[in-house]
Amino acid sequence: MEAKKLYDFVFQMIKNFEDAKDRLSLIEAFKKALGIFFQVEDLKIFVMDEYSYLLKDFVKPWENLAQNNESEKVKKYFENFLVQKSQYEKEENVLYFPISKKHKTLGIVELVLREEIKEDDDFFKILPLIEAQISMFCMTLKDKETINISTKFHQTVRNIAKITETQYELDYILPIIGEMIDGFISEHLIYIFLKNKNKKEYKLIWPNRCSDEKIYSYLEEINSKSQTILKQDGKMGIFPLMVDSKPYGAIVAYNHFDKITKKEIEYLEEIKSQAQATIERAKSYIEVLEFATLDALTGYNNRHQFEKRLKETTSSAKRQNQPLCCIMSDIDFFKKVNDTYGHAVGDCVLKTVAKTIKKELRESDIPSRYGGEEFIFLLPQTNIDEATVVAERLRSAVEKKKINIEEYNIENVKEISVTISIGVSEYNKADKDPNALYEHADSVLYQAKETGRNKVVVYKN
Ligand code: GH3
Ligand code: MG
Ligand code: MG
Repeated sequence: MEAKKLYDFVFQMIKNFEDAKDRLSLIEAFKKALGIFFQVEDLKIFVMDEYSYLLKDFVKPWENLAQNNESEKVKKYFENFLVQKSQYEKEENVLYFPISKKHKTLGIVELVLREEIKEDDDFFKILPLIEAQISMFCMTLKDKETINISTKFHQTVRNIAKITETQYELDYILPIIGEMIDGFISEHLIYIFLKNKNKKEYKLIWPNRCSDEKIYSYLEEINSKSQTILKQDGKMGIFPLMVDSKPYGAIVAYNHFDKITKKEIEYLEEIKSQAQATIERAKSYIEVLEFATLDALTGYNNRHQFEKRLKETTSSAKRQNQPLCCIMSDIDFFKKVNDTYGHAVGDCVLKTVAKTIKKELRESDIPSRYGGEEFIFLLPQTNIDEATVVAERLRSAVEKKKINIEEYNIENVKEISVTISIGVSEYNKADKDPNALYEHADSVLYQAKETGRNKVVVYKN
């Protein structure tokens, strides 16, 4: 009889373990399996935290145990199991027994039953087997979590390293790094600070707000040694970012409840070095890019080159008395693309939109990336009516384009599409300042945004 029940128990456990995605569902699976022996009211597992040496609720390891009689009992019995004073403890309808790994007691199970079980119940004969099962499932899940974290950590480091393949503006890179770290270390608040230009105070770069004023005074302690600084009883870690061996900024991790663990410090230090390397690389890119002409992501002219070409084309339009037009485009709700699918997909969208538009242009047209998701096109020997037709063609080509994002493995999403808003203007040769050409396009682009997006608005000279 008991053998059959034990068999059912093991069978239930194995079956449910596969579906147990997290600790809470594992506990539910235990409850269900133990239901084979008796009616279970509640079940809690407490595990010794290897860093703080405190008992923690297996489901809520970030919280300290409440200070009450129940917790005291749990602690007391756990001590007994540690020194192997007893095999189990029973108090009316509550049963306590240890969980262990390789004979080392790691935690304690508190099982509340609907009815008291008798001391001579056969269940106690098989209790060691049940303990072994529960221990094994808890520890396997814990190991699985550790492997997941380690995989996520390596992905984060790799992603941070990859940013500079396509990006070099620090204003854009740093918040992305903040988001990546936040996604990885979700139990902590993550902040990124940079030193101001005057090299005195630190300013918050990510996220938008930091309500803890004390952090700013801790940041003052950063010196050229670049060591990690622990504050607030070890609950806050300050990881200085050094560039050219000088303090440049800091990543701060803060957990309200717990000390930051050794392992987390190791992870954050590694991420910090990667972020440092990425910042250094981005900075040297910027230096190189002063001499470069093309934008790395789209292959369009960069802004610096655009300014040169604007001067050239306006003066030659004037000289040859030829028309010249300007088209300015901006992707609609692009921030949403980044927020929904991540910046890598955002980059892919930018690249694809740039390519789609390029196909619609003439050889003599001059495409440039003006900033983030704004493109600007100079159309020599084109009047405003022709340019309006081109603009409409660009708008429609982008709207129709299905952007394949399969390689980014977003669940259930293989392709997405975006729209652009456009402003068109013609060069007025009476204008002294050539910049007026794109300022006019920009002003009507703003109108296109205000009046519904995915449309072309033409500037009237
Ligand atoms: P609107 O329709 O008003 O233009 O809305 P929007 O969301 O497109 O406008 P907003 O200017 O608020 O957002 C532009 C976003 O583009 C914010 C910025 O993070 C993102 N961005 C800028 N440059 C890049 C880039 O190179 N790659 C990626 N992935 N995103 C970028
Ligand atoms: Mg936009
Ligand atoms: Mg914009």
